[in-house]
Amino acid sequence: MSFSKRNLTELRQISDKRAQLFAKLNVNNLEDLLFFFPRAYQDMSKTTPLHLVVDGETTTIKAKIAKTPTLQRRGKLSWIKTALTDGATVISAIWFNQPWLMQKLQPDNIFYFYGKIQNQGRSFSIQNPQIMTEQEYSDNKIQAIYPLTKGLTQNLIRSAVKQTIDLYDNYLYDPIPDEIRKKAKLSTLEFALEKIHLPNNQQECLIARERLAFEELFLIRVALYLLKKKRVEDAKAYSLLIEDTVKNEQIIEQMNQLRANLPFELTNAQVMAVNDLLNDLKKSNPMNRLLQGDVGSGKTLVAAFAIAYVKFCGGQSLFMAPTSILAKQHYQTLKDFFAEYPFEIRLLTGQTKSKVRAEILESTANGKIELIVGTHAVLEQDLKFENLVLTITDEQHRFGVKQRAVLGETDNKGYTPHRLVISATPIPRTLGLILYGDLDLTLMRELPKGRKKIQTYTATSQDETRIYTLMRKAVERNEQVYVVCPLIEDSDELDDVDSVESVYKQLSQNIFPDLNIGLLHGSLKPDQKHKVMQDFLDNEINIIVSTTVIEVGVDNPQATFMLIRNAERFGLAQLHQLRGRIGRSDLDSICILQSDTKDELALTRLRTLCKNDDGFALAEEDLRLRGPGDFFGTKQHGLPQFKLVNLYEDQELMNSVDKFFKEIIRDDPNLRKVENRNIVKAIKQRYPELLSGMIL
Ligand code: ADP
Ligand code: MG
Repeated sequence: MSFSKRNLTELRQISDKRAQLFAKLNVNNLEDLLFFFPRAYQDMSKTTPLHLVVDGETTTIKAKIAKTPTLQRRGKLSWIKTALTDGATVISAIWFNQPWLMQKLQPDNIFYFYGKIQNQGRSFSIQNPQIMTEQEYSDNKIQAIYPLTKGLTQNLIRSAVKQTIDLYDNYLYDPIPDEIRKKAKLSTLEFALEKIHLPNNQQECLIARERLAFEELFLIRVALYLLKKKRVEDAKAYSLLIEDTVKNEQIIEQMNQLRANLPFELTNAQVMAVNDLLNDLKKSNPMNRLLQGDVGSGKTLVAAFAIAYVKFCGGQSLFMAPTSILAKQHYQTLKDFFAEYPFEIRLLTGQTKSKVRAEILESTANGKIELIVGTHAVLEQDLKFENLVLTITDEQHRFGVKQRAVLGETDNKGYTPHRLVISATPIPRTLGLILYGDLDLTLMRELPKGRKKIQTYTATSQDETRIYTLMRKAVERNEQVYVVCPLIEDSDELDDVDSVESVYKQLSQNIFPDLNIGLLHGSLKPDQKHKVMQDFLDNEINIIVSTTVIEVGVDNPQATFMLIRNAERFGLAQLHQLRGRIGRSDLDSICILQSDTKDELALTRLRTLCKNDDGFALAEEDLRLRGPGDFFGTKQHGLPQFKLVNLYEDQELMNSVDKFFKEIIRDDPNLRKVENRNIVKAIKQRYPELLSGMIL
């Protein structure tokens, strides 16, 4: 019978009460327990000859009890002392507060001892070692260490897992097709499930992990593929392929005109990206594309050309931004872009007055409004379109996979809109396969001509006077300044971390009383935020003191100086995003990373940023520096939490998964072949949340 229907209470030592503790670890039945993988292992397999033991090392020794142990007590404390030998060398051994061991420690008996070695003058001792017979040792050389919760112990979990494995009758089908499994040199599922818990040696442990991590990635890769496929195949989109040659000529002419009106040349990357989008728009299955480009590469403009094409073909578009500041800015940019055309563009955010909103909803439903720019708050509203052809989501990394799916459902007359998502978060390719496996990708790795490298420097609080001098000079050149702080208000716990409020006070009252200083953070009322931002864009504010709310998308080409306080508190990619707010014109820009940290890793991060300005290279570097973590926010991306896979360390595995995945779908794009059927079954069973709403 399926383990998923069998309760833990059928195991020895597992009462209802204990079962409830397991539930806290998300283990609700025997199958969960089978897939409750160790977080680490205690490896006792390495043995050291006595004459080679090293101070401080934890190791296993095989030795004979060399003399009758002594037990001493003082109050509640007790300790046992004896000597151990392998015939040539003698070391001492000591156990605290385990008087019952006296029975076991019979002289001349040989045991394995696992513990920490300490140097005591000219001899060594081993502290509190675990004692094992030959048999015990060979059974437990490597022991799994599980995540715990209060009330459960390692031994209890180990025993429950062991019993489960003994009961396991291999009822689970193997989701990985045999042929692939062999080519990828992976073990069977049965072997892996046993050995991940009860390995006899390191090798088995690695084999088991590799197999199960492969499976984890593989199933998610396939799931994302199916999501994408379903969207593309089952859905019909407006195809903007214009058959009428006269009309087509006319539209091309209008597009060229828009391009000619620009005060600058498009970059090659922009031209190629626009082509990708127009090609997609001409298809009758929906576009599902990610436009990824470094900060400042001009992604908004690319989107604007797609919107233009849709408009000239008579369709509606929806443009969504993660913040209302950004929505407002895009609204302005697009209005300017289309200034010479009659074009109904409206802004719709949470702040839109209800009367205005009602009017917008009506005019959108009857097709009068051609473009809505808004925050994702618009999603919650009863927004209906006459013929919605294109949806665009800016700064994709703020939305999750699930939200991505929802956006596509904005239905109109059975047509699914083409969907473009935009992201400035560069992610290494392998990560992209997983995070964005359901999207086609257009990469822009080129900045507009004439952009100067942003001079980036590190500084400490000692340099403040000099920094303020530079800031004043920038303002005197009629340029503007960002000052970024990690906190909104001062905090008792983080007392050496700057807040926008205190820095704002300091700058406006003491340092620059003659200048206009603005304050911006997420807790301000939306109206206040917009006013500050507008004043900043209008150069009414010289210096804006802000939290990371300006991180995404804000575009003020006159801003050329950025000071980031407590820079150590930000990640590399985030700092790069922040820095991307300046250097948005042909003016020279300076970014100062101020930090008093002594932490080497943080300093390396800051120095890396000074040397490097390519977001993709920085993302790779970040990966290398940071190692494990949730920096790219797999949670935010709406992906399931991986049990075994580490997106940072398992890049090679990801490449291998991708290779075999492609092999399979080349042959059997719908995964209908007998040997592939278990894949879909396993996805449904293990990742129901990812596929909720999907009919497979
Ligand atoms: P991002 O890719 O970071 O979203 P934006 O779309 O905000 O970048 O563009 C950054 C700035 O560069 C804007 O002020 C925009 O007008 C300008 N820009 C866009 N394309 C070009 C270009 N080809 N040449 C010069 N400036 C450009
Ligand atoms: Mg942008």
